[in-house]
Amino acid sequence: MHCPFCRHADSRVIDSRTSDDGSSIRRRRQCPACQRRFTTIETASLSVAKRSGVTEPFSRDKVVAGVRKACQGRPVSSDDLALLAQKVEETLRASGRPEVEANEVGLAILGPLRELDEVAYLRFASVYQSFESLEDFESAIVSLRAEREARDDGESSADDGGSSDRDGATSGATAAGRDAAR
Ligand SMILES: [Zn+2]
Repeated sequence: MHCPFCRHADSRVIDSRTSDDGSSIRRRRQCPACQRRFTTIETASLSVAKRSGVTEPFSRDKVVAGVRKACQGRPVSSDDLALLAQKVEETLRASGRPEVEANEVGLAILGPLRELDEVAYLRFASVYQSFESLEDFESAIVSLRAEREARDDGESSADDGGSSDRDGATSGATAAGRDAAR
């Protein structure tokens, strides 16, 4: 990697550390020519192909911006939104592909948003899935109710063995991924 100060063709890694969530590595480097130090951040590439044909890097900020409007006036904090964007990224990265379609990002948002706030979910889904009539809202609400009842029924029997095979840190993300893929 070239030195950003003097353009020397080589640099030496003096420290590497993995970010808290394990998604990136920061490397402290030093230039052997001018001795100045700089930092590089290494992440697995994940890009989003938009309908226009343009490809751009996946951005959690864009996910938050896309969902924030649907959450106006709802009891959803910016921490909730940051966590939602993290789940969306985990779901997309779990596909193992370096590039996903823009509509897959929307799909990956629906699951965790439904868990977060059902009204915000309906607002987001109505725009994302272009609801055109009252019937579209009705059928979305009917399926929300059906899923909520199925979940309530399932909870009583699933309580005993639910988290024994996985540690707490990964089980949340796994549940979110499963929901988004439904
Ligand atoms: Zn240099």
